[in-house]
Amino acid sequence: MEELAKINLLNLTQAELELLVESMGMKSYYGKSLFNWLHKKIVRNIRDITDLSKKDREMLETKSYIPFLNLLDLKTSKIDGTEKFLFQLEDKNSVETVLLRHSDRRVTLCVSSQVGCPVGCAFCATGKAGFVRNLNVNEIINQAYTVERRIIKNHENISNIVFMGMGEPLLNLDNVRKALEILTHENGLYISRRKITISTCGIVAGIEKILLERLPIELAISLHSAIDEKRDTLVPVNKQNKLEDLYAVLQEYQRQTKRRLSFEYILLGGVNITEKDANALADFVKDFDHVVNLIQYNPVEGAGFKAPTPKKLEKFLHVLKIRGVNVTIRQEKGRDINGACGQLRGRQVVS
Ligand code: SF4
Repeated sequence: MEELAKINLLNLTQAELELLVESMGMKSYYGKSLFNWLHKKIVRNIRDITDLSKKDREMLETKSYIPFLNLLDLKTSKIDGTEKFLFQLEDKNSVETVLLRHSDRRVTLCVSSQVGCPVGCAFCATGKAGFVRNLNVNEIINQAYTVERRIIKNHENISNIVFMGMGEPLLNLDNVRKALEILTHENGLYISRRKITISTCGIVAGIEKILLERLPIELAISLHSAIDEKRDTLVPVNKQNKLEDLYAVLQEYQRQTKRRLSFEYILLGGVNITEKDANALADFVKDFDHVVNLIQYNPVEGAGFKAPTPKKLEKFLHVLKIRGVNVTIRQEKGRDINGACGQLRGRQVVS
């Protein structure tokens, strides 16, 4: 109980830490040093912060703490080294984080932004489990810190972060924004802003906020269908965020940022890969500087979807190519460890 009343240091920006140490009677520049220990050296214990006097450390320890995530489960792919972590939060909820290793030595961390997800996409294990709550700032950045501490021992570092795990990041934008500020800070992990991608199912008001605040991140849109009636059933937020409105805000986004847009499209056999689907997709993306990532479907129990046959997929791909769509089929990573989002947590909840 006493621990919960203490200040969670990982929720604070450098400016907020400066104010905190000042309020404890220390010089404000110790705030900068404290930020460096917390976010660059990613220290686990206040007593290891040797810049501070023993007395200051003791005072800090009585009033604040550094939170950590408990590792509940870890699966490692024998095929490509992908690692899937299941972390337990202070309130015993759990979230998933996935580490992807690329052949060019890039290391991408796929982080969660919510416990569960309110969007409820028809094909998604997380969506099926429902929404619990937003993650706070420390729970977002601690996914990165916990993994970084492990991989640094093998001389690896996280180079890219994608908000593509559990949850819809634009429905938790206040905490995601603050987490971004800390993760990209030059006195912290200093992840390049161009190497952070927010993946959204198309929350128009959230994209407008990104524009308004000039958040310098890459944007990926989980499209999955470019036909409103079909998208309404696959991605239910489409009912409030129609394709026409999404298109308009993305046009404005690209006009202002000049950044390439990624469109994610999950391949569902007999559902969204007809010739009509391919033409609708081509119509939607053709005037954007774009890349369309086709994603192999990883079956979710009880969802009622299946992967397409190779022949159907080939036909779909053929139409996209002759329509000039810049398309890739995403190499699926971690297939042998249930790569799809929410599957590890789903098993934990069930077992
Ligand atoms: Fe939420 Fe993404 Fe799953 Fe849709 S696919 S329910 S947005 S986590």
